[in-house]
Formats: sequence, C-alpha cells, structure tokens
Amino acid sequence: MKKASVFRRIAAAVLVITALLYGCAFPSHAQQSVTVQPIDFQNGGFIRGMDVSSVISLENSGVTFRDENGREKDLLRILADHGVNYIRVRVWNDPYDSARHGYGGGNNDVDTAALIGRRAAKYGMKLLVDFHYSDFWADPAKQKSPKSWADLSLDDRLDALSAYTSASLETIRRAGADIGMVQIGNETNSGVAGVTDFKDIPKVFRAASAAVRAFDPDILVAIHFTNPEQTGTTEWRADWLAENGVDYDVFAVSYYPFWHGSLSNLTKVLRYAADTYDKYVMVAETSYAYTLADTDGHPNTVSRGHNDTGGDLLWDFTPQGQADEVRAVMDAVNSVGEKGLGVFYWEGAWITVGDTAGLDGAAYTDRLNANRALWEQFGSGWASSASADFDPDDAGKYCGGSAVDNQAFFDASGAALASLKVFDEVLAQEFLPGDADLSGSLEILDATRIQRYLADLCWLNPTAQKAADINNSGEPDILDATRVQRILAGFKD
Ligand code: CA
Repeated sequence: MKKASVFRRIAAAVLVITALLYGCAFPSHAQQSVTVQPIDFQNGGFIRGMDVSSVISLENSGVTFRDENGREKDLLRILADHGVNYIRVRVWNDPYDSARHGYGGGNNDVDTAALIGRRAAKYGMKLLVDFHYSDFWADPAKQKSPKSWADLSLDDRLDALSAYTSASLETIRRAGADIGMVQIGNETNSGVAGVTDFKDIPKVFRAASAAVRAFDPDILVAIHFTNPEQTGTTEWRADWLAENGVDYDVFAVSYYPFWHGSLSNLTKVLRYAADTYDKYVMVAETSYAYTLADTDGHPNTVSRGHNDTGGDLLWDFTPQGQADEVRAVMDAVNSVGEKGLGVFYWEGAWITVGDTAGLDGAAYTDRLNANRALWEQFGSGWASSASADFDPDDAGKYCGGSAVDNQAFFDASGAALASLKVFDEVLAQEFLPGDADLSGSLEILDATRIQRYLADLCWLNPTAQKAADINNSGEPDILDATRVQRILAGFKD
C-alpha cells in the first residue's frame, strides 16, 4: 500500500467523522441543488402562483422564513424574489365559534386575506381571492352554509352572498391588495355556499360573478372544481356552466398527482374548456412532497405507505422531484395553448411550528404538546378543537397541525429549499445588463430605479434584479446604479 493511498484513507475517515460530529454526513434538504429546464410559455402572463393562506398564523406561532443565504425576510418577499408572481388566499366568512375561538387553518377571515394581499402587492404580486363561501374548509365532501346564512331562503342567500362578496373585495382592495382574480367557491363539485341542488348551484355562481363584475369588470372570475381524473364529468361541468349561462373567465381544477390522474388527461380536460368555450384554464392547486418525513407530529397527506406510490407519481420525493412536479404541471397547462393561464401551488410554506424530527419519548411528546398549544392559540394547524362548533364529525374530531409540512418549499427551520427556484428558472429570461425597468434599452431611469429599489421604494422582479446587477455581484447595489450612469455618460469602464 502506497503512502499516498494511506493518507487519502485517513483524510477520508477524518472527513466522515467530522461530518458525523456536525450532523452533516449528507446534504440537508436546504442544501440540495436543483436544476430546472425553462418552458416556452404560450401565454406571456403565465401565472406562477402560490397559496400561502396560513402565513400569518404561522408567524404568530413564532415561525420565521429565511432565503438561501440564511437571511430572515418576509415570506412574500422571498417568494417574489424566486419568481412567484401571484398569491392565492382563501377566505372564510366567519371561522370562529361563539366564544371567538378560531377554527384554525390560518383562521382565514377577510381581514387576514387583506393583510396577506397587501404584503403580496408590496412585492409586485397580484392576489387571487379564493372565497369558500363557508365558515371553514369547502371541498368536494363539504360545502356547508356559513352560520349566518343557514336559515336564509335561496333568494335571500343570493342577496347575502352578493353583498358579502362586494364588501369583502372592498376591504381587501382598501388594504392595498392588487386583486387580479376571484374564485367563486372552492372545489365546488357538489355544491357551493350550502346550496347542493344542481338546478340552484348555477344561480349562486351567477350571483357571485355578477357581484365581482360590478365591483371591477377587469377582475377575472374563476370557477374551481377538482377530480380532473373524472374524464367526462369534468367536461360535463364546462357544458353545464355554459348551458346555465354562468359568466366566468377561468375554468380551474385542482391537480394532486397522487389522486388526480395523468398529466396528459389534465391537459385533455382543460383543453376542452379552452377550445369549446374560449375560457382560460388553470390549475388552482397542486403540490408535491420533497420528503416523506413529518416534522410537526401531525400525519402528512403524503407519507411512507400513504399516497406515495402509483403510476402518476413520476418524481422522487426530493427537492428536485418537487421542482420537477411543478414544472411538469406548468408544462401540462401550457400545452393547452394561449388559454393555459397558470398554476398555483397549494400552501407552499405551511411548515411546522416546532420541529419534532429526531425526537422520541418524552421529548417528542413535549414538543407535540407545545405544537398543539400553538395550533389551538393561533390557528396554525389545519383545524383547532373550536372547529367542532361547525364541523364536529371531521375537523372537530381530527383537529391538529399541518398535513403538508413535507410539501413546503422551506425546511422545518424555515430555510428556503432550492426547489423554490423553479418559479423563476422555468422562465427563459432575456435582459439587457443594466436595464432595470426591462424597457429594452438603457436609460437614466434604470439608474433611478435601482436607487429606488435599494431605498425600498419600489420592487424589481427577479429578471429585473438580474438586469440591474450589471457588475454581477449577486444582487443590485449602489455600484450598479453608478455604473449605469457612467455608461450613459460615455465612460468606457
Ligand atoms: Ca405534518
């Protein structure tokens, strides 16, 4: 054995021991790199959106978020910096019991949505307001009437819904949100706003749509179903909306690959609504797990032995797999053509309020109990015990934490995963160095814009940030503004 070989073995052993000592024998999820191939989007305004409805309840529970450089920032800013261009937020009429205890799931009333919308607008992101028209989760199995509408006749209910829609949008806009789209019901396969008779459901849609149109005709009206794997049924829904004179712009579906069939089928059912009725189409919810591990003590939707196998799960449960899923779903929507409007990722930041990973015995129990206390106090779990007031058989019984902490773009500590960059890198970006306003030419306004950005007076999207970074230091700085001025003044440096 040669001396050099022995030395290498010793060096390798030292490295392994060092790595084990520091707990970094393998790169953490936050350290794993990810590659993304761009998509040639047919719709120039393709939405790369995310639902972060739980964010305020998480922050109230002590959660913070950091970018890939370890700097703590507003979650909304981190998302915008990574190319997310639209935020979706759910709205419940009155998610509180008679003692004003929140039902959980972010306690997302109108005021909470308004706060999130204002922060999204600060970083250049539009808002999709997702009215559930219920006091808590509305989905294919549940479309329960809000408490205050429970005894109303259909006509009175339509009036109440119209007034509620207008007033809520007014509150959200007045807070500073840039409302681009309104979803009139959530996963409305079996009803909406407590109305389940299929001859009456279109009346609810018509009333809601009319209220949005009256508020602002430029806001897109979206109707949202799920189960796109039910080929035929999904096309039938588009026919049914048309036959019943429902005025809307966007035909939206959920697409969770562990439940909702193939991507080619997704494209097929969306193309039907786009081609037959000239509607925009989009995926209002999708998500994918970057790991099968849980970090909050509440079981996850996707976990080992649960929704983790099947022919439509084409990707690894890694940050790379998560990014690949998002890209693939965007590609499937883009395949429809110009009417392919975009994709929203569902709750991409609903991480744990206290990391249970690696704990066992009493330490695990203590952490879980601490998490439960936060979920109860701030509504940062999917449901609190107070929700028994409205939904005793499900939410009230199985209340708890996040079922999607392993589908977030942040690890349990709040550190951004490399998969988050899919929202930016999926775009093929072209820009002129220094052209901070992306006007196509270099002007003094570009220097001013960089200065304003540095003073936090305006926002630059990720492409504009790269253009502004003319000296390639990694981010815009005052030297970039000076360089633009010097170039325009004719200096050759
Ligand atoms: Ca969990």
